Amino acid sequence: MTKIITVKMNDDFTCKCGNDVMDSGFHPCDKKGNEIEPATTWEGYYKCAKCDKIYLDEE
Ligand SMILES: [Zn+2]
Repeated sequence: MTKIITVKMNDDFTCKCGNDVMDSGFHPCDKKGNEIEPATTWEGYYKCAKCDKIYLDEE
């Protein structure tokens, strides 16, 4: 089971792997890590484009 970390996702956010929004960025995804388009069903999860770590925006 992937551990999901709740973060404040903003332009200054940097993943533990070193990726940030100006590098490879982050993709909206569901809690299983499947990339999705931001829509009404989106719950605020992001996946790191480099290491596939999943984050949940606390906003
Ligand atoms: Zn990462």
